[in-house]
Amino acid sequence: MNILVINAGSSSLKYQLYDMKDESVLASGRVERIGMDSSIVTHEPEGRPEVRIVDEILEHTSAIKRVLDMLTHKEHGVLKSVEEIDAVGHRVVHGGEAFQESAVVTPETKLEIRKLFDLAPLHNPAHMMGITAVEAVLPGVTQVVVFDTAFHQTMPQQSYLYPVPMVLYKRHAIRRYGFHGTSHAYVSERAAEVLGRPLEELKLVSCHIGNGASATAILNGKSFDTSMGMTPLEGLMMGTRSGDLDPAIVPYTMNKEDLTLSEVNSMLNKHSGLLAISGLSSDMREITEAMFDGDKNAKLAFEMYAYRVKKYIGAYAAAMNGIDVLLFTAGVGENSVVLREHVCEGLTFLGIKLDKELNAQRSKEARVISTPDSSVAVMVVPTNEELLIARDTFKLARQRGAEQA
Ligand code: AMP
Repeated sequence: MNILVINAGSSSLKYQLYDMKDESVLASGRVERIGMDSSIVTHEPEGRPEVRIVDEILEHTSAIKRVLDMLTHKEHGVLKSVEEIDAVGHRVVHGGEAFQESAVVTPETKLEIRKLFDLAPLHNPAHMMGITAVEAVLPGVTQVVVFDTAFHQTMPQQSYLYPVPMVLYKRHAIRRYGFHGTSHAYVSERAAEVLGRPLEELKLVSCHIGNGASATAILNGKSFDTSMGMTPLEGLMMGTRSGDLDPAIVPYTMNKEDLTLSEVNSMLNKHSGLLAISGLSSDMREITEAMFDGDKNAKLAFEMYAYRVKKYIGAYAAAMNGIDVLLFTAGVGENSVVLREHVCEGLTFLGIKLDKELNAQRSKEARVISTPDSSVAVMVVPTNEELLIARDTFKLARQRGAEQA
């Protein structure tokens, strides 16, 4: 069975085609600058050179058509016809309280996703454009939606409610949803697999730290608490997002600086985090290089970022009455030797002992980087959200096929 995984943004669309026989990637790519005069299609058939085309692609249906043209192209394609695509899986950022797991796309599913436009105005409408485009171009194909929030629906009330008037939850569904769920689910399963231990018996803290960053406490294989909240702004310090702050700063700043709601929103989402403190960049590689070159602000940004990760590890170890596994994933978590070292320093009281040599080794494989006598297994686990989307899509499409047979 071939599964096409799509991550549709407002002006871009990423794709990956899997052969589920062995979970191999047949091709991957992206369409960027949709709706602009020079859209770019980058297509990478596995094991063959990348192809790049610049053209005018005005909306998502044309973008999907382009993707299918590439996948079935005489020279660069990997399929004879689009009929060989058995199902399509979409990443959807917000599933609200309606979706505790992945779902087959039906009129009801689409209605629920639409209801969540308010909660994820940048993401859900774009995902919906992707779904409708596939309906137009591949009519009848089974489509599945996989939500970033679904994994966190197991959180207890004490984790997901905010201590504000309950009427806000009842009227407006204001609560913690959490994000990066597909990633936290994938890396925790993979970690248990590598350790050869049942996930249900482990207390894990998973740190997905990339441009966006979140930490999750995973107890008995389920999300128990997570640092992102109603929106992906809460929690850890990020590339351009502030993460946790005193909410009173918002009205105070608006008043003092004469800012509108949208300006303050933009300040916290786009002009804060690493970028604001370093005054240099939101990119951890550049921050680290500048820090080693003696830049004081870059050093401060780096240290604040690491300190905030460390605080969440301590908080979640307390929340679960212990920690067996500490996981690092995503761009910074997988690649920054120095950040991992900084975060783990001074956590010996929790039984965390990093092996500096193992930590410094470069590898694309999931691996343990703690010493043999560390009571916590510290691990680097490369995330693969697309594979988890492909697996869920495969499972649901097969079930649907069996029901219809
Ligand atoms: P992601 O959002 O998961 O793609 O992660 C992007 C972030 O990972 C950016 O801040 C990159 O600078 C960071 N990153 C990637 N490689 C490295 C590296 N070798 N060292 C430090 N940061 C890295």
